[in-house]
Amino acid sequence: MSAAIIDGRAVAAAIESELQARVARLGSAPLLAVVQVGNDPASTSYIRAKSRAAERVGVELTHHHLSANILLGELEALVEQLNSSEHGIIIQLPLPDGLEPALARIAPARDVDGFHPENLGKLLRGEPGLRPCTPAGIIELLERSGHSPAGKNAVIVGRSNIVGKPLAVMLTQANATVTVCHTGTADLAHHTRQAELLVVAAGRPDTVTPEMVRPGATVIDVGVNRTEGGLVGDCAPGVAEVAGALTPVPGGVGPMTVAMLMANAVAAQAD
Ligand code: NAP
Repeated sequence: MSAAIIDGRAVAAAIESELQARVARLGSAPLLAVVQVGNDPASTSYIRAKSRAAERVGVELTHHHLSANILLGELEALVEQLNSSEHGIIIQLPLPDGLEPALARIAPARDVDGFHPENLGKLLRGEPGLRPCTPAGIIELLERSGHSPAGKNAVIVGRSNIVGKPLAVMLTQANATVTVCHTGTADLAHHTRQAELLVVAAGRPDTVTPEMVRPGATVIDVGVNRTEGGLVGDCAPGVAEVAGALTPVPGGVGPMTVAMLMANAVAAQAD
C-alpha cells in the first residue's frame, strides 16, 4: 500500500483565498505585528512564510526586529503599545532567557497564536476564542480532506502546550477518542498501533516507524527536523507504505499553521 498524500499546501491555499475574499469585503486590512528578538534562523524563515501569506490574504504585517539585548521592560512596553495599535500580535518563539513574561502582556483579543492562558481556558471550556494555529490547522486539514476525526480512535505522540495538549482537546471536541503519548509512555508502539488517526508531534526523526502504524491509518506528521538530508518529519519514510493517508513534510501541517494564523488575524479584526 502507498498512502494517499494529504496536501496541506492545497488546503491552505483554499483557506487563504476565502480569507482574501473576506478581507476584501471588510474593506480594510487586519493589522498584524510580528515581534522577533535576536536572530534565530528558523524564526527568520517562519516570519518570511508568514509575511508572504499576509501579502496573499491582504493582512498588513509589520515585522519588529529587536536586538537580543533588549530589556524585559522595553519589550513589555512595545507589547502594550501594539495592544492598542494592532489587531493581532505574535512574539516569535524562542525568546532569549528572561523575556518570556512579555508573552503574558499580549491582550487575549490580540493573541493570534492562541497561547494566552485565557484563550487556552476558552478552548478547554469549548467557548469561542483564538485557537492555537497548529492544532487548529490539523483539525481543519482533516475535515477538509475527508478524514473527519469523528468516531475515530486517535493517538497523539507529544504533549506540548502548543501542539499535543490543545490538539487533544480539539480532537475530543471533534468526537474522536483520544490517547496522548509522551516520553513516560511505557509501550509507545502498543498505543500507536491502535490508532485509526495518528498524530506525531515529537520533534525527532523516525519517532514512528512502519511497524508502529496500523495499516490504513491516517497519519499526520507535525515534525519539522532540519537534518543533513534536508527537512524531515517525525515519521520514518516507510510509514507511507503502511498508512492509508499521510501528510508530507514539508507541505502538510506547516502551510496549515500559517493559514490558521491568517484566519486568527482576520477574526481578531472582526472582534
Ligand atoms: P516539544 O515541545 O519538544 O514537545 C515534544 C513532545 O513529544 C513532548 O511532549 C515529548 O514528551 C514528546 N516526545 C518526544 N520524543 C518522544 C518519544 N520518543 N516518544 C514519545 N513522546 C516523545 O515539541 P513541539 O513544540 O510540540 O513540536 C513538535 C514537533 O512539531 C517539532 O518538530 C516542531 O518543530 C514541530 N512543529 C511544527 C509545526 C508546523 O507548523 N509544522 C508547528 C509546531 C511544531 P515529554 O513531554 O515527555 O518530553
